[in-house]
Amino acid sequence: MPPRVDAERLRADFEALSAIGATADGGVERPTFSDAHLEARAWFLERARAAGLETRVDAAGNHSAVLPAGARTLLLGSHLDSVPDGGRYDGALGVVAALEVLRSVHDAGLALPVTLEAIDFTDEEGTLVGLLGSWAVAGSLPPETLAAPRGGRDALVAGLARVGLEESHLADARRDPASLAGYLELHIEQGPVLEREGVDIGIVTGIVGSRSFRLMFTGASGHAGTTPMEARRDAGVAAAAFVVAARDLVVRGYPGCVVTVGSIAFEPGAFNVIPGRARLALEFRSLDSDELDAMEAELLDLAGAQGVEVEVEPVGHWEATPLDAEVQAAIRGAAAALGLSTRDLPSGAGHDAQALAAVARSGMLFVPSQGGVSHSPREHTAWEDCVNGANVLLGAALALA
Ligand SMILES: [Zn+2]
Repeated sequence: MPPRVDAERLRADFEALSAIGATADGGVERPTFSDAHLEARAWFLERARAAGLETRVDAAGNHSAVLPAGARTLLLGSHLDSVPDGGRYDGALGVVAALEVLRSVHDAGLALPVTLEAIDFTDEEGTLVGLLGSWAVAGSLPPETLAAPRGGRDALVAGLARVGLEESHLADARRDPASLAGYLELHIEQGPVLEREGVDIGIVTGIVGSRSFRLMFTGASGHAGTTPMEARRDAGVAAAAFVVAARDLVVRGYPGCVVTVGSIAFEPGAFNVIPGRARLALEFRSLDSDELDAMEAELLDLAGAQGVEVEVEPVGHWEATPLDAEVQAAIRGAAAALGLSTRDLPSGAGHDAQALAAVARSGMLFVPSQGGVSHSPREHTAWEDCVNGANVLLGAALALA
């Protein structure tokens, strides 16, 4: 019989955590360094102490429960911050499950050759920076990101001051890669695949890379009543045609990849004026860097083929992150020992594992998200699936330890 977590204790903790920053519609709101976020972090350390575990807070504000053993550390983690008006499960499930794994190992008196650490990474969701804590641990917090963080400089400076963190010392949170035995994260899928296929556990093969561009189409504005259809260079029509053609291109030529035009604005923007300009926000994702290169070339060619001028401004560039094969095998083995079904799948969303993968063998397992809904108060995972995930996390951690 494989060892199992204490499902009742896990549930009591999950419910207690869900009450911190709870919103009226059943979700949570815990943006980085808000009162609710700090209360959740304090609660986490308190629960760790109550279980007889050690605690630590590093120079990037990452909060940890530690079960000390060998010199090397196997990290199990996720995040307690949330998006505004978020759900209870995103991040939180991974942290309470990691804590429960440490308690289960501690209670069973198992002597492991590695230290186990349940870690709550700072600012995963990007209220301030995004993956702030995990990039710091990996030693790769980009200075240009801190100079122009997505939440703005003022919010970053004020947030760090609020919790007594020094920007100049964030990098001190770096861990020596030789000290890390690996990184494992349980997370909800945030997509519909596992539920649709009736699969218990998703084994994450990698985290997709993404590229984003601002496109500006320039035609000619003119009178909407007096300019004949054949005489127009309508930037709006060109942009709309591009949106549809881009979708068709990716659906036909790039199975498993996604492309999105998330924003489109016509100028000057009036009933009676032909749009002279159209601005688009283009983003596409793939698990394969060569595929990203190919999509970029084809999509930008397509933008240039709409009969108007196009200007292209690169905005974001995230490399795809393959996850470790040995960790995937450990997850597969742990699930099989529990009689749970598995499926390999990529993660379309970013996670702390993409930062850790550069310095330690890293992996993730997903449990089903009801309706694929996430970043919403309607986010839900059946409790049985949460327990399954925690048990697989425990089994995989023991295998890797
Ligand atoms: Zn998350």
